Amino acid sequence: MALVVQKYGGTSVGDPERIRAVAEHIARTRAAGNDVVVVVSAMGKFTDELIRMADEVSPTRPPRELDMLLTSGERISMALVCMALAALGVDSASFTGSQAGIITDTDHTRAKILEMRPDRIREALDDGLVPVVAGFQGVSTERDITTLGRGGSDVTAVALAAALKADVCEIYTDVTGVFSADPRVVSKARRLAKVSFDEMMEIAATGGRVLMLRSVEFARRHGVPLHVRSSFTWEPGTWIVEEDPTMEEAVVSAITDDTSEAKVTVGGVPDRPGVAAHLFRELANHGINVDMIVQNTSERGTTDISFTVAKTDLDAARTQCLEVQESIGAAQVTTDDGIGRVSIVGAGMKSSPGVTALMFETLSEHGINIEMISTSSIRISCVVRADRVADAVRYLHTAFGLDAA
Ligand code: ASP
Ligand code: MG
Repeated sequence: MALVVQKYGGTSVGDPERIRAVAEHIARTRAAGNDVVVVVSAMGKFTDELIRMADEVSPTRPPRELDMLLTSGERISMALVCMALAALGVDSASFTGSQAGIITDTDHTRAKILEMRPDRIREALDDGLVPVVAGFQGVSTERDITTLGRGGSDVTAVALAAALKADVCEIYTDVTGVFSADPRVVSKARRLAKVSFDEMMEIAATGGRVLMLRSVEFARRHGVPLHVRSSFTWEPGTWIVEEDPTMEEAVVSAITDDTSEAKVTVGGVPDRPGVAAHLFRELANHGINVDMIVQNTSERGTTDISFTVAKTDLDAARTQCLEVQESIGAAQVTTDDGIGRVSIVGAGMKSSPGVTALMFETLSEHGINIEMISTSSIRISCVVRADRVADAVRYLHTAFGLDAA
């Protein structure tokens, strides 16, 4: 008998009919002889609606109150799922994040899990119940209700699976798995049967929208196998697992795209120790997450530093750069929100020469100019004009032999 954690995203519990379909699947999984722990997101776009409501009521949103508001979405889902289960004769009980023993730090709206004490979930399982847990939330060391950041129900599910030593954490969503590229961009994208944690982290970090990055990190750290699949077709989806050293790895598994970032360039920076440190410390102190960084070789003692940030952080990043411009002696600060990033990801590229060359040749053949480059051992990313990103993904998908027949 296996212990299965099933997480249902917003679209999977979007309306009463969907909630009944989910309850039926939970019942089926139980009938097959498994123990099931369920984690639910808020229905449909309910979290966005709550944020809109908050905006309408007040220009300031105290983070503690915002968290209290937003966690209500998941509470609605969990109670409704339990009612639907009751109608099928399946005994269940709902639990908030706090009741499920999810202890977080006090960083409201993006709290981190410090400790898992899922005693009540274990007891419920022992009593033969299906515990249904509200995703995305916990209770802080100050005993306040917190949320884990947007998309945080994935983290709840993985954390519970790790703490309960579940055999698998199934992530149910509105797509049938992880694809070789976004199927809305590349019609010939293929579903991947299996992806390694390392590859999935790179995919999630460079624009793959299926799984929240933090949940993949968490799953890898605790060795929780993930299975991303559809709650509309229920067919087997994509397994995210530890790399299997006996298997031949694909050189390139996926092409990702991301147009959510913008570029900041600090120009004419004196080329001496401490300048970059000062600049990036200032950005970090203001909670601005920097992604790609490129520094040019210095000419006549000065250099340019370019980096990318989320578009939503662009104004704050510009403000901070202007603030330190004088003290670091930089000539100018410019920004560009017309960029996009295309990345190729594959565990096999470590041992396969020529991957970089093929990527650059493919882009150049189609007149796509590369503005920034960054790499990891299993990823190459290029910043290009935003309006060429979709083309770049399609050409690279073909060049690396990923097109479905
Ligand atoms: N309902 C939350 C959100 O929309 C959490 C989640 O869906 O995972 O971000
Ligand atoms: Mg969601």
